[in-house]
Amino acid sequence: MSTIEKHHFQAEIQQLLDIVIHSLYTDREVFVRELVSNAADACEKLRFLQSSGGAVFQPDIKEGISVKTDATAGTVTITDTGLGMTKTDLVENLGTIAHSGTKAFLKQLAESKKPDAHLIGQFGVGFYSAFMVASKVTVLSRSHLPEETGWRWSSENAGGYEIEPAADLPRGTSITLQLKDDAKDFTEEATLKRILQRYSSFVQFPIELNGTHLNTIQALWTRTKSEITDAEYNAFYQYVGHDHEDPLLRLHFNADAPLAIQSILFVPQRNVENMGMGRMEPGVNLYCKKVLIQDRAKNLFPEWLRFLRGVVDSEDLPLNISRETMQDSALMQKLNKVLTTRFLKFLEETAEKDPALYEKFYAEFSRCLKEGVASDYTHREALGRLLRYESSITEKGKFTSLADYVKRMGSEQKEIFYLLAANRETAESSPYYEVFKSRGYEVLFLSDPWDEFVMEHLHEFDKKPLKAAEKAELDIHAPPTAEGSLSEADATALAAWVKEKLADRVGTVRASKRLVDSPAVVVESDRHMTSSMKRMLKAIQKDKDVIPDTQPDLELNPRSSVIVRLNAMRQTDEPLAAKVAEQVYDNARVAAGLLDDPRAMLKRLNELLETVLTAKA
Ligand code: ADP
Ligand code: MG
Repeated sequence: MSTIEKHHFQAEIQQLLDIVIHSLYTDREVFVRELVSNAADACEKLRFLQSSGGAVFQPDIKEGISVKTDATAGTVTITDTGLGMTKTDLVENLGTIAHSGTKAFLKQLAESKKPDAHLIGQFGVGFYSAFMVASKVTVLSRSHLPEETGWRWSSENAGGYEIEPAADLPRGTSITLQLKDDAKDFTEEATLKRILQRYSSFVQFPIELNGTHLNTIQALWTRTKSEITDAEYNAFYQYVGHDHEDPLLRLHFNADAPLAIQSILFVPQRNVENMGMGRMEPGVNLYCKKVLIQDRAKNLFPEWLRFLRGVVDSEDLPLNISRETMQDSALMQKLNKVLTTRFLKFLEETAEKDPALYEKFYAEFSRCLKEGVASDYTHREALGRLLRYESSITEKGKFTSLADYVKRMGSEQKEIFYLLAANRETAESSPYYEVFKSRGYEVLFLSDPWDEFVMEHLHEFDKKPLKAAEKAELDIHAPPTAEGSLSEADATALAAWVKEKLADRVGTVRASKRLVDSPAVVVESDRHMTSSMKRMLKAIQKDKDVIPDTQPDLELNPRSSVIVRLNAMRQTDEPLAAKVAEQVYDNARVAAGLLDDPRAMLKRLNELLETVLTAKA
């Protein structure tokens, strides 16, 4: 009686496999890195189990990895003596999606003309890279659990897979790849040796190739910094980060107090989240005395540093702690704080030493820093020092730090001003900017819609309050006393009249002290809200009730000829003056991006045009 069970791959995995098999022809050697990395993971997990006192099948077999090539048979076999898999493990781990990022990876693969296969390991589906080179993959595995037995898992051309019992297996896993005709090169020992040597020195277990020892085992992070070459660091990054590029930044950090830490941290060249890849998972592995405690450890760093890759080794961690309690332990929080503080300091140093490099980092990862400002009170100040913006005095496309802004502030300026606008040109022509220009105050130009919220959260920098330009209580300097500007009494009377005409559609109406050229401007009456913030909230919240539909205040410029003539006209032709007042209000709302339905305005505008044309005819 046959005991072979036939299974389908989960739909997403099948889809992934179809792409892997039919569209990925370059950089196929990543399969070696992925399978060796899985074998090493399995050994690390076993070592952890043993060191925390768990019962293990065949405890005397040492952890290790062996690679065998067979040119005659056209196969490559990668064997490890790690923790092995039960039947359930095989079904779950090699047939279904375990990681949330997989769907996003699939989407990218499916949409892209040149699918980026190198990223496969970053999305927790490295095993399937075997199908780039193999027509048949056979996995023999026996779990470390003493009561379990062995299993054979196999898949031909990825059309589903079969599982059957396999007798007399030693503990661990052996994966045999029957190579496709165009991948037979991988049976050459020299080829495999070259590939393996790239990563083998980072694997904490002996690796053999056709019976010959390949690696000397010494954890990179425990070696003396000055003796490690750039090439070694880069290859290590590619191994732990499952990447094919070199890292953008690297920090090798050791400490004795307050905690013993040996760590190497990397920042990738690219932020895959910017490529529409969904949310990244954390990527730093946690060790204690070279024993892996947790890979892709959660809570080792704050969420907003999830782009970091690398290792942290701390001998202060208890070895026999369960991974679940580990995550929330006070020790972990302490580790998190020390590491995060150090990394932020490193970023600051980088910004100082190599501004161009820092800008590159910032272009990719600024959103993560901003997320930190908004969500992490502990590091808010340090994060504030890392923010960069264009400002009214920088050149287009050049950035300033808040610290440099503060250095340039004159003694009479008490606040740091910022203005959100789609781009520099819009910011410079904004009515809100006029008063700053007249006083020669620098204004930060924010172009990311997140930025206003970031500023709200940051609240102050170097004890200077951060203030939205719209909310600044500033008077223009030495207002031009052009004859024809309205007297204070006239301006007050006009404001009262405009309020009467616009009634509930406007908050309060007053004479403006901030405008130089524009006739009028709207200002949100809510102290914490700016027009742009309101616009954004409205766009997010479909349910309008959530955002109280308060009317903005209107400020009139007593020095604007439009306003001066409007005041005169309300004596001679009040109905026409009322129409102009409404138009002035709508224009100000357009400038603030707050006019939802411009159609009513168009009708009025046409009437006004008609009046002008009739008067001139
Ligand atoms: P990842 O390594 O990111 O989890 P993979 O697709 O490489 O994703 O592997 C999927 C899972 O299959 C692993 O998490 C592991 O549970 C299991 N696995 C793969 N190879 C082995 C192995 N050699 N020994 C034990 N388990 C393995
Ligand atoms: Mg893997």
